[in-house]
Order: sequence, then C-alpha cells, then structure tokens
Amino acid sequence: MIRNSNTLRIPTPSDLPHLPTSPNLPPVPEPQPPKLAEIEAALRLFDETTAALSARINRLEQVLVQKQQELVATNHKLSENVEALDRTTAWLNLVMESVASGVVAIDRDGIVTTCNRAAELLLSGMVPDPVGADWRATFPDSPLLALLNGIPTGAYEHHIRGRDGRPRILSAQANPLLGPDGALIGAVEVFEDVTEVRRLQESVERADRLKQLGEMAAGVAHEIRNPLNGIEGFASLLVRDLPSDDKRHTFANHIVEGVRTLNRTVSALLEFTNPRRIERRPAVPGDLARSCLELTKAGEAVQPDEIRVALTLHDHAGTTAVPLDGMQLKQVLLNLVQNAIQAVQGTGRTNGQVVITVSREADHLIYTIDDNGPGVPKDERQRIFTPFFTTKDHGTGLGLAIAHTIAALHGGSLSVEDAPIGGARFILRVR
Ligand code: ADP
Repeated sequence: MIRNSNTLRIPTPSDLPHLPTSPNLPPVPEPQPPKLAEIEAALRLFDETTAALSARINRLEQVLVQKQQELVATNHKLSENVEALDRTTAWLNLVMESVASGVVAIDRDGIVTTCNRAAELLLSGMVPDPVGADWRATFPDSPLLALLNGIPTGAYEHHIRGRDGRPRILSAQANPLLGPDGALIGAVEVFEDVTEVRRLQESVERADRLKQLGEMAAGVAHEIRNPLNGIEGFASLLVRDLPSDDKRHTFANHIVEGVRTLNRTVSALLEFTNPRRIERRPAVPGDLARSCLELTKAGEAVQPDEIRVALTLHDHAGTTAVPLDGMQLKQVLLNLVQNAIQAVQGTGRTNGQVVITVSREADHLIYTIDDNGPGVPKDERQRIFTPFFTTKDHGTGLGLAIAHTIAALHGGSLSVEDAPIGGARFILRVR
C-alpha cells in the first residue's frame, strides 16, 4: 500500500486481503501405483501393435520395391519404344530424302506439310520454300486438289519453270492420305522430272520420221535433178539466143530462175538426207562465231541494196579450244544469222540488230542469236524445225531442220524463244 506519495514501499503478505478458509472441501487422494497385471497387459498390447505395424511396414516396403521394379521395367520398355520410333522415323526420313522422285504431302486445306529434298529441288524455280506454302496458289488446277474433294485421278503432268528458268515437265501421280480412322486428312503426290526422257523420245520419233522422209526424198531428188539440169540448160540457150526485147527472152529467164530455185531445194534436201557424222577438232568457240560474222558481212558487201543490219558479237567463252565439228557448227551459225538478218529486213526497219553471244555453262557451249525482227509466234515454234516449213517465197524450209540435226549430233539442242531486244532468240547448245 502506498502510504506516502513521496516514499515507495514494497508490499508484505500482511498487506494482502484476508481470504476465508473452507473447512468442507474433500481431501485430495494420494496417487496409487499401477497394478502389475495392468502393466503387463499394456506392454502386451504395445508389443502386438508394434509387431502389426512393423509387419505392415514390411509389406509396404515389399510393394514399394515391386512397384519400383515395375516402374524401371516400364521405363526401360518406354525408352526402347522411343528409340525404335526414333530409328523408324530416321529411316523413313532417309528413304524420303534418298528417293529421286519428289514427294509432297498436303493437308485438307491444300497446305504443304511434307516435302522431300528431290521435290524441293524440282520445285525451287516456282516455290522456293514449299513447306507451309499453299499448293492451290502454285498449281490451281492440280488433280491433287481435286482428290481432296473426293475426285479420283490418274497420272498427270505439271509444266513448270526449272531453277534455270527453262521449262520442265513433271510426271505426277496422287493418292489420298487417310487417317487411322479412315477419314481423309490430305493427299500425297509423287512426281519426277521427265523433261530429258521426253526430249529423247521426241528425238527418236523425229529421227524415225526423218529417216523415212529422207529415204523417200533422196529417191525423188535424184529423179528430179537430172531433168531439171536439162530444163535449165535449154532455157539458158533460149535466153542466150532470143533478143532481149523479145517477150520469150523474159519467159525463158523466168524458167532459168525457177529451175535454179528448185535445184537449191533439191540440193538442200539431199544434204539434209545425207547421213551425217561429227568430226571433232579443237576449235575456239568464239572464233567460229567471228568467222561466221565476217562471211555474213562479206556477203552483205555484194548486196548493196539490202537494208543494213548491225551485227554484234559478245564472246564470253574464253580462248580455250574445244573439240567441235567447226565446219558443221559454222554452217548452223551462218544459217541462224542469215535467218535473223532476213527476219529483221522483212520488217523494213532501219535500226535492225543481230546479236550473237557465246558462253559456257557447265559442260555446254551456248550460242545465242538475238534479233529485233518480228519474232517467231508461239504456235509456230515447234513447226519451224520440221523439214519444209518456210514462210519465205524462196525458202527451202530445211535450214533449221539441218541445224537441229547438227545440234543433236553434238549432244545438244536448238530452241527458240523471245529475244530481250524484241524479236527471236535462237539458242544453240552443244557439248
Ligand atoms: P528457210 O529459211 O528456208 O525458210 P529455215 O528452216 O531456216 O528455212 O526457217 C524456217 C522458218 O523459220 C522461216 O521460214 C521463218 O518463218 C522462221 N524463222 C527462222 N528464223 C527466224 C527468225 N530469226 N525470226 C523469225 N522467224 C524465223
């Protein structure tokens, strides 16, 4: 109790309030020690429980070990399956990448999902990155797309541009792609480049046709030549003997001219049907073109009335000699240049141009003859190489046919397309 606000005193027990004592509360019993029987029973229970528990733990441990073993076995099997799957996938990829045919798969929307290396190469001129591309955009009329609509299809062809920009023919076949439940999930196309095969087929057919034609033509030419020589001889005598103001003199002159044209045709025909052989000797490719231009210029010099055409040579083929039949190649080049000049002159234009370019490409030698004449209409491009096709009054129609044969004998080709300078471009490839 704080009696004096100025001094602090620690309270003593006598300061606590006085608690009343309660004389009726029962006395707290003294704790008794457990009986022995009870202790033994408790110990027995404890032993039994721990025994049961440890038996259960043992069983659990066994189950655990068994489950672990099963898990390891399952894992092992799984990784074996994955490895087998990997091996199969790698093998399938290897097969896909090794086949020479192009293989392309599309989904139901026409999007390319798979494309092997051969297909990538064949299509690279048209679809640089095929996987993910829309097949409809590249080949809108492809039977592969019709297959997605349930329309069955047989073999068909794609006419495409190759990597070098040249036309190529792909022979193709398509099949539907069915899922495990038999539902249509896309279509697959297998194709191969048959351009060379077609070219060879055409060459063989052409050679066959020409052989038959040649045999017939050679016989006819000999029959015609003899009487023609007689007609020309007699008509020339008339020209000589008749006065020049006599009408018959003019008629006889016409006969002589006509017979000479016929003779030219017969000579060309005989030359065309003559079996040819290639005799290769080292020649500098550019020199052949140069001497051909010189000959053409010399020819022009004696025809002062003709419209002048500018002749240019671009020689990129170097100075190394190549084994070629120079005589026959010069004949081809001369023919192509003459044709080009005549085509330009036919238009009557005064700024006529003929450009020869010589270059090498891999194992090929390429001569390109460009002109700025009227060009060759697309529907005539095949026919101009067949014998006797001519659009000229005095043409034989044999020049290009002969040139084609000589190119083929050189393991090459002769083709025509549009020239960048406006007219025709003839491309002579030789090996
Ligand atoms: P020819 O010159 O006797 O007519 P060719 O076989 O050499 O025979 O030519 C066949 C035809 O090809 C020609 O008549 C002509 O119609 C066409 N031709 C050839 N070269 C050209 C060219 N540079 N431009 C346009 N047409 C051409």
